[in-house]
Amino acid sequence: MTRNQMLINGKWCHASDGRSFPVYNPRDEEIISHVPAADVPDVEAAVKAADAAFPAWSAMNPFRRGTLLRQASERILAKKEAIGRLMALEQGKSLQEATGEVIKGADILRYYAEEGERVYGRIIANDDNDTVSKVIYQPLGVAAAISPWNYPIELLAWKVGAALASGCTIVCKLPSETPLSPLAFLECLQDTGLPAGVVNGLTGSGSVVGPILVRHPLVRKVAFTGSTEVGRTVLGYCTDNLTKASMELGGSLPMLVFDDCQLEAAVKGAVRRSFRNMGQICIAVNRIYVQRGVYDQFVRQMSQQTQKLKIGEGIQSPADLGPMCTAKGRKTVQDHIDDALDKGAVLKCGGKIPDGYSKGYWYEPTVLANVNHDMLIMQEETFGPAIGIMPFDTIDEAVRLANDTPYGLAAMVYTQNLTIAEKCARKIDAGNIAINNPDPGVINAPYGGIKASGFGKEHGPEGLYEYLHAKHVRVRMLD
Ligand code: NAD
Repeated sequence: MTRNQMLINGKWCHASDGRSFPVYNPRDEEIISHVPAADVPDVEAAVKAADAAFPAWSAMNPFRRGTLLRQASERILAKKEAIGRLMALEQGKSLQEATGEVIKGADILRYYAEEGERVYGRIIANDDNDTVSKVIYQPLGVAAAISPWNYPIELLAWKVGAALASGCTIVCKLPSETPLSPLAFLECLQDTGLPAGVVNGLTGSGSVVGPILVRHPLVRKVAFTGSTEVGRTVLGYCTDNLTKASMELGGSLPMLVFDDCQLEAAVKGAVRRSFRNMGQICIAVNRIYVQRGVYDQFVRQMSQQTQKLKIGEGIQSPADLGPMCTAKGRKTVQDHIDDALDKGAVLKCGGKIPDGYSKGYWYEPTVLANVNHDMLIMQEETFGPAIGIMPFDTIDEAVRLANDTPYGLAAMVYTQNLTIAEKCARKIDAGNIAINNPDPGVINAPYGGIKASGFGKEHGPEGLYEYLHAKHVRVRMLD
């Protein structure tokens, strides 16, 4: 079901000037397909189509919109293997992980179908009985979504689900590295019978499509997920028309492991969150702080469990880890490891390209001990399969270290002590805290960062309200 065309105004099309660019398999760097390279006329056509579709879509009863989203969700589930295969091919994750993500994408649409039916206003008493204030929530208009390649469908589904359920129409700039599975996802939505123009999907370079799309005066809301660096640039574009924006940006997730924790669970959580999807997760663990009483034990067990992870292509046969998605990403990992080793870190495992994998973007999962905060790995986002572990003595020291980066997306804490858990939850600067579990994000609770990790929320009702504006209506009753 490979779609190598863009979706504009309900029709599948090539770029207006016919240009395209290749999509690669990160396992062997072979070209899988080509997709259109959108430029000014394509972006213009997509935004105009979304704007033309807005009046009818926003006026549609939310239960009817919900029905369409639920039908799209079912269609996606029916095609989960085919879409998952496309994602596995272009992103590098295993077929099992990719299919799981497609299922999650379908669940997100179903969740927002229902959340859209629960948009309530408020009645507010005035200081006299003849007037009353009402707050009603209305969709903002055309939304622009820009999302990255690490979770090509899930991150898109957060935006598409919330936008469409709220009554907004949407133009999506799909990730250049992984456009095929999101196109297949949008195809399911379109084939459900959405009116033309309600959802549009563009492929093309971020630096070409991004500014034209975000600066477009008909765009009323921008939902960006990506790096902090590009997020700053995109936010700059939003100032042209003072467009409302939500920014889900980079992170450098700290994990705090206290002496009293269930060590086995902490190690298991750390291995999963450090290396799942080759560490290419905004909430991947980047830095682990372990209280001195269990430090040696934790480092030993973490290294042992990491070395058990099976590297492989993951489509024909199961594997825990595949290749990284990009050569650039792998270089960052190598740079962070080299920097740490130069400054005195100790390599516990990994640190190289696995034997026999000379083509593609493979890398061994890497554990570094004896690290400190002068090292890039403890300060910046590695976004790959490498972590640093350092010891701490007191809770205040652990919290200070956790907060000692520009980021504030999420943190993980392992302890059985309620007071420690509560103190960490209150004092760590992050939008999401997971205690004794490795999953700080669930679809029905708000998700998003602070500091250099951005602002605005996705997931939950908060994610929906990002696409709505509150209107105050004050009514006086006449005699
Ligand atoms: P990126 O910032 O390079 O690209 C993100 C998207 O922006 C892509 O679709 C890209 O084409 C587009 N883009 C690039 N230049 C642009 C421009 N000038 N104008 C508009 N759009 C432009 O990020 P990436 O490497 O694709 O993804 C990895 C980053 O995403 C990491 O930093 C990761 O932490 C972050 N991320 C954050 C979250 C979150 O929820 N906070 C989730 C996933 C990924």
